[in-house]
Amino acid sequence: MNVFISADWEGIAGLVSWHQEKDDTMRARKLMTGEVNAAVDGALAAGATTILVNDSHGSMRNILIEELHPQAQLLSGGLKELSMMAGVQRDMDAAVFIGYHAKAGTTRAILDHTYSGSVVHEWRINGQPAGETTVNAAVAGYFGVPVVLVSGDNSLQDEVEALGAVHVQVKEAFSRYAALNLHPTVAQERIRTEVTKALGRLDAFHPFQPKTPVTLELDVTRSSMVEEILLIPGMKQTAPRTVAFTHDDVLVGFKAMLAAITLAGTVNRG
Ligand SMILES: [Zn+2]
Repeated sequence: MNVFISADWEGIAGLVSWHQEKDDTMRARKLMTGEVNAAVDGALAAGATTILVNDSHGSMRNILIEELHPQAQLLSGGLKELSMMAGVQRDMDAAVFIGYHAKAGTTRAILDHTYSGSVVHEWRINGQPAGETTVNAAVAGYFGVPVVLVSGDNSLQDEVEALGAVHVQVKEAFSRYAALNLHPTVAQERIRTEVTKALGRLDAFHPFQPKTPVTLELDVTRSSMVEEILLIPGMKQTAPRTVAFTHDDVLVGFKAMLAAITLAGTVNRG
C-alpha cells in the first residue's frame, strides 16, 4: 500500500499564528514534523510500504528531514506543478492530509484561507464553496486516490466529513488566532491511531470526483486581479470580482486556478 501525505502548517496542534513561523520557526517545524511522523507510524502499522510526504506549506521547506521517520520520503521545496498535491500522481492508494485548515471566510477557524489569503475570497467547485481540503481531494480523485483522513482544528470537520473522510481534531479554535490545543503527544497519538484505523478499512473510502465538465470559480479580493486573470485562455469574468473556468478535465481546471492565483498575486497596484 502506497500512502501519500500532504502536510500543511496551520492545522498543527500548538500553532495559532503566522508570527510563530518567524518568531519560533524551529519549534513550529518540530511540531509539524511530529504530526507527520505520527501519520507515518499509523500508516506503517496499517501495512503501508511506500510513504511519500509532500511539504505543502509556504516555502514547502518546513519539515525537518533528519527528524522525519526513516521509512518516509520527503518531497521538499516549491514550484511543483501539483502544488500541495505533488506526488499523489505516483501510484498512491490513499491520501492523508495533516495540519489542514478551514476555507477562507470560516468563522472562528485558525488562520482560515484558501491557497492565498491575499487573493482568494472564495473558491467554488460546481457552485459549492471549497477549501484546500476539497480542492486537493479533487486532485487526488483525478488520480483515483481517496482522502481517508484530515487533521486540523474543529472548524474543518464539516468539510472533511462531506468528503467521507475521517476528521481528527487536534485543537479547538476560540478565534482566528487562538485555540485550545491538545498536548502534541496526545494530538500525535490520536493521529497515529486514526490513520491506522482508516487505512485498515480503505475500501470504505471513495475518490472525490466532481461532475464534469467541472466549473471552477474564484472570487478574488480586488477587481484589478480579474483583469490579470483574464489573460489566461478560457477564463471568463462572471462578476466584478469573479472568474470562472469550465473544463472536462479537473486537473486542467486546477492548474488554471493555480495560474490565476499566481498571476493575481503579481497584480500591478497602479
Ligand atoms: Zn499552510
